[in-house]
Amino acid sequence: MACELSSGRRPLPGGLIHATASWLVEHCIGPLGLGTLVVKPQRHVTAVGDLSDDEAGELGPLLRQTSAVVRDLVDADQVYNCLWSHARGKPVHIHYVVQPVTKEQTDRFGAQGPALQVAMFASGQIPDPAEVDRLADLARRRFASA
Ligand SMILES: [Zn+2]
Repeated sequence: MACELSSGRRPLPGGLIHATASWLVEHCIGPLGLGTLVVKPQRHVTAVGDLSDDEAGELGPLLRQTSAVVRDLVDADQVYNCLWSHARGKPVHIHYVVQPVTKEQTDRFGAQGPALQVAMFASGQIPDPAEVDRLADLARRRFASA
């Protein structure tokens, strides 16, 4: 799935937002709210322990930058960084989910942390693609000017 989205084999709302030598940043396609971005290696890697030195070296600064960008864009109370890369019992292409969380969301779902993510997945509310496009444009500009 992560490979298919990056390669254009599946439609990707918002398109590519940012890239480093080893990593890509895209908007999340799941129901985790507007502004939730995905940071994934360009190479097909299924374990953090298998990252190259270059990939690992770029990761910290990129997660920091991505977290700051989404915090500002949606005025978040907190930004989660998490990595769930297991599907149908198998390790899959790793992708960090960088999720800006607002007070409105924790109030509405009555949950935070992993329980908030479960509640959001249960709601199944995928962000409006036009809103994703708009936010992706803003994020692209922030990355470009950093
Ligand atoms: Zn892959």
